[in-house]
Amino acid sequence: MYCTTESVEQLAEQFAQLPGIGRKTAHRLALYILKMSRDEVVLLAKSLVNVKDKVKYCSICSNITESDPCAICSNTKRERSLICVVEEPHDVIAIEKTHEFKGLYHVLGGALSPLDGIGPDDLKIKELLQRFSNTTVEEVILALNPNVEGEATTLYLSRLLKPLGMKITRIARGLPVGSDLEFADEATLSKALEGRIAV
Ligand SMILES: [Zn+2]
Repeated sequence: MYCTTESVEQLAEQFAQLPGIGRKTAHRLALYILKMSRDEVVLLAKSLVNVKDKVKYCSICSNITESDPCAICSNTKRERSLICVVEEPHDVIAIEKTHEFKGLYHVLGGALSPLDGIGPDDLKIKELLQRFSNTTVEEVILALNPNVEGEATTLYLSRLLKPLGMKITRIARGLPVGSDLEFADEATLSKALEGRIAV
């Protein structure tokens, strides 16, 4: 291509690796960076490195945090008898927005997907089991995405956790099938939590 430069192409290539960014958008973003002031670009670059250097995973719930344990795990007002299992950190944000849930979370880091080679050992399932050894958890809410992978994970976890004796529930099926918890509106998610059913 003669109408562009090597460094613009390189940057566009990096943007294109991000989820939801096609080649066209990647080029548009790269050209937009050119229009920004040098200070703004430096700030953006620093923020990218910062997030990588500072953010770690909570040793209890595996959510993202800058201090370990995270703010939710170390909050004494949260109900310790209730653990809500989700796939990704953005699911925690979605549920927190409903102001409906006062327990703790456990972030699996994904869902079971044999086709993509993601098995139980690739998720924070071992860490989840460890949480039941020295705490008094009464209920585990499985709040996984309403798609094939989320369903498979819900089934797997309910079978794994049932023998441990606590109540296992899953969020109600009011969420659009095939979608992502992240995109559910607060009212729908709130209802799904409220109407959770035993598995
Ligand atoms: Zn935590």
